Amino acid sequence: MSLKTHRNPGSPMSTSPSTADVIRIHSHGGPEEMRFETVDLPPPAAGQVRLRQTAIGLNFIDVYTRTGLYAGPTPAVLGVEAAGEIEALGEGVEGLRPGDRVVYNGIPGAYASHRNAPADRMVKIPDAVKDEDAAAVFLKGLTVWMLIFEIRRLEPGETILVWAAAGGVGSILVPWANALGARVIGVVSTPEKAELAKAYGCWETILASEDVPTRVKELNGGKGVPVVYDSVGKTSAEPSMKSLRPRGWFITYGNASGPADPIPPARLNQGGSLVMTRPGLFHFTHRREDLDRGAAALWGAMRSGAVKADVRQRFALKDAADAHRALESRKTSGATILTP
Ligand code: NDP
Repeated sequence: MSLKTHRNPGSPMSTSPSTADVIRIHSHGGPEEMRFETVDLPPPAAGQVRLRQTAIGLNFIDVYTRTGLYAGPTPAVLGVEAAGEIEALGEGVEGLRPGDRVVYNGIPGAYASHRNAPADRMVKIPDAVKDEDAAAVFLKGLTVWMLIFEIRRLEPGETILVWAAAGGVGSILVPWANALGARVIGVVSTPEKAELAKAYGCWETILASEDVPTRVKELNGGKGVPVVYDSVGKTSAEPSMKSLRPRGWFITYGNASGPADPIPPARLNQGGSLVMTRPGLFHFTHRREDLDRGAAALWGAMRSGAVKADVRQRFALKDAADAHRALESRKTSGATILTP
């Protein structure tokens, strides 16, 4: 890799590479479309920071971007979340300095050794949190914050149903809900994942192959639950709605099995005046003050021990396609990190 020295406003002479190693797709498709390439990297533009990335968060959304389920132009560098160190500042950037450790989510182009990114989306990592742990929790943890505080505040004593309870989001949702005093029933695909979901704090678990609504009611004194957190989508939507009590909340926030089929309003009425929402994190963190509020809640939950990063798989950035294969075939649990 060639090195080029350039001067950036706000920082003394800094040595930053003029190229970056990235994982890029040139067309949508399977993991075989993911290419490890070296691309030119210009100096950071006004309002941007240059990052040396140390840990990249793997998220299911990266799969949707790769396949084209979430449409976007190609060629494209995959990924939306990483932690790293600021190497240089573009013009006009204030409040950040070279050497600061930061994390971000929701900025396409994260599968990279180095990158430029908007300074106003960077969040400083607390001293007590390692880069890798920040990259493991930042997108998933803010998603959980959105789910249990922003959409509908979870109340102590409520029994809730959580799909993919041993997954990346599950590894944060289950303990955080538990810490708020909720009783969590988790759905998982294997007995091994059931054991892990219990370790995260599930009160009970159900295998996805079982009749989920029947098992929920057996466990919950014959009644449905007030809220279901459903990230599985196509195969889980109907069982989720059947697991709710009247006026329950169907929070469908992912498509791991494919997008849920259309749901007519009358189906919500039949279920007992159900409330359905399909949230996206970026609508909840678009304003800087909301991003800061969510981040403060997440760092606080980590400080108190309610939430811990659980990195259970690590892949070199160049092997990101293998990470996608593992995630899509349900072989991962907890969080997965790509290392540049
Ligand atoms: P996970 O680690 O949870 O992986 C997905 C899990 O879904 C799998 O491990 C698997 O768990 C389960 N699953 C069920 N059916 C399938 C299937 N057919 N194929 C693959 N997996 C399946 O991923 P993440 O933590 O990254 O994300 C979890 C979910 O949250 C995703 O759906 C993602 O889109 C969503 N999300 C939504 C956000 C939003 O803003 N709306 C933001 C962030 C994430 P098991 O084997 O136990 O069934």
